Amino acid sequence: MEPILVAKNIKQYFGGVHAVDDVSLSVFPGEIFGLIGPNGSGKTTFFNSLNGVYKPTSGNFYFDGREITGLKTFEIVSYGIKRTFQNLRLFKAQTVLENILNGNHINYSYNIFDAILKSKKMNKEEACSEEKAMELLKYVELEDKAYSYASMLSYGQQKRVELARALASDSKLLCLDEPTSGIPFADKEHLMELIKQIRTEKGITILVIEHNMEIIKSLVDRVVALDQGKIISEGNPEDVLEDPKVIEAYLGEEEP
Ligand code: ADP
Ligand code: MG
Repeated sequence: MEPILVAKNIKQYFGGVHAVDDVSLSVFPGEIFGLIGPNGSGKTTFFNSLNGVYKPTSGNFYFDGREITGLKTFEIVSYGIKRTFQNLRLFKAQTVLENILNGNHINYSYNIFDAILKSKKMNKEEACSEEKAMELLKYVELEDKAYSYASMLSYGQQKRVELARALASDSKLLCLDEPTSGIPFADKEHLMELIKQIRTEKGITILVIEHNMEIIKSLVDRVVALDQGKIISEGNPEDVLEDPKVIEAYLGEEEP
């Protein structure tokens, strides 16, 4: 089987900060692939390089057989890669339903020119009917919250709205940046089941950054551990979490 995503020798430098330093990995269709590492190890930056927030300093990304290195965020979306953010980016003054209908587009415009370009393409690519939005809300078990303001929902519920929003336009790869952070354990498990369900029922490949080791163990098929921008271990989660290099990298980290 061909990988759906290939990262080849990705470097993302910010001056002297080597946030991502020569990372290569392949994700196969239908996998749930984990990215772990202590705070500041380059996980979110890797997502940003992949999703077109930054152009990699060097290296190449291939998706579904095509090179996507350095494309704009909205182009990456149109190729079928969606993401959620480490920190919530919902419109709190809008209803849950409106948040879904609006899709992800606003998150992606990091300058005004992109925003203009994007808004022209947006309707076509990210349109989501009210019917589909309601279906997605049912999927994340929030249909009774459709007309509530996003600000009225619990943090865990808001995370589920983000997930539904990322599913609003068809995607092949979903990049989740710490989807379960900041929510109570029971909700974490619920969210984890939902992520598994998205893979199984919708056939979407998932790349997930996750800090909680229990979640990693029961959620992902394979995992890569980063430290200071470099891969220090990779393989199945049981082995990686017991790798002395990984344990050492996490020493001194507060248990999240
Ligand atoms: P993680 O998500 O693993 O916690 P990040 O990818 O957010 O880590 O950060 C990795 C490193 O890159 C950190 O040292 C961070 O300060 C640095 N970094 C991230 N983004 C930028 C940026 N835009 N400019 C400069 N440094 C950055
Ligand atoms: Mg991060």
